[in-house]
Amino acid sequence: MAGLDPFKLAEVVERAVTRRVSGVQERRYYRFRGGRWYGGIATGDVVGCNLRCKFCWSWRYSYYCDKGWFESPRSVFNRISSIASQRGYRYLRLSGGEPTIGLDHVYELLELVEDTDFVFILETNGLIIGRDTEVARRLASYSKLVVRVSFKGCTPEEFEYLSGADKSFYEYHFRALENLLNQGLKPCGDFYPAVMLSFSNNESYSVFKKRLAEIHPALVECIDEEYVILYPHVKELLRRNRLKPTVAYDPSGVPESMI
Ligand code: SF4
Repeated sequence: MAGLDPFKLAEVVERAVTRRVSGVQERRYYRFRGGRWYGGIATGDVVGCNLRCKFCWSWRYSYYCDKGWFESPRSVFNRISSIASQRGYRYLRLSGGEPTIGLDHVYELLELVEDTDFVFILETNGLIIGRDTEVARRLASYSKLVVRVSFKGCTPEEFEYLSGADKSFYEYHFRALENLLNQGLKPCGDFYPAVMLSFSNNESYSVFKKRLAEIHPALVECIDEEYVILYPHVKELLRRNRLKPTVAYDPSGVPESMI
């Protein structure tokens, strides 16, 4: 195997970024914030991830396990729902690292969201959902949830190069979509794909779209196309990895092509 095993890494990370207190699973966080994404969303940023993407905007926290502080699902819910209420947002999410590491924590948070008018967007690389149909079944039981599965590249080779994980695990991105679909969730409404395109070409993107269409034709119509945003700490990581995006954005939203 040429790359890392994201499932083994998830086990190691989970031991470090979660703990049990009176039976409740707490998770490490490093920030709570409001922001303009999705037209306004309150976010809890978690520590730790099971990939090592070379373009990761939160690498200073997703690559590590010992940062931040522990929060219970109840306290996370209080924090993000309070930000959303104060600012009039409809959406809540976890971001920063991989939120499906420590699933009991997420499930308990989702239970709390069920009794509100908020919508929770689960931003995930999807690998853990793709491995385990039981995770998809449980997620499908929440009515206020939208799952955004973020692909790291358009082909297994791009995935391995960009994420550090072995290319054999790329398929789990697709399996996440399949598992969610098989649980009766609606493509584009209840779940949708996102893909990092800053390092891909038209040919590999076509291959990707063809594979998506095999799962469900509607998925091709709701791809969230991601491009690198050149924050100073992201530029630093790209420089270290000698990685050059073909399309990227500066933080003001202005595209920088062929940088
Ligand atoms: S999956 Fe997301 S959080 Fe994890 S390393 Fe990749 S870009 Fe960062």
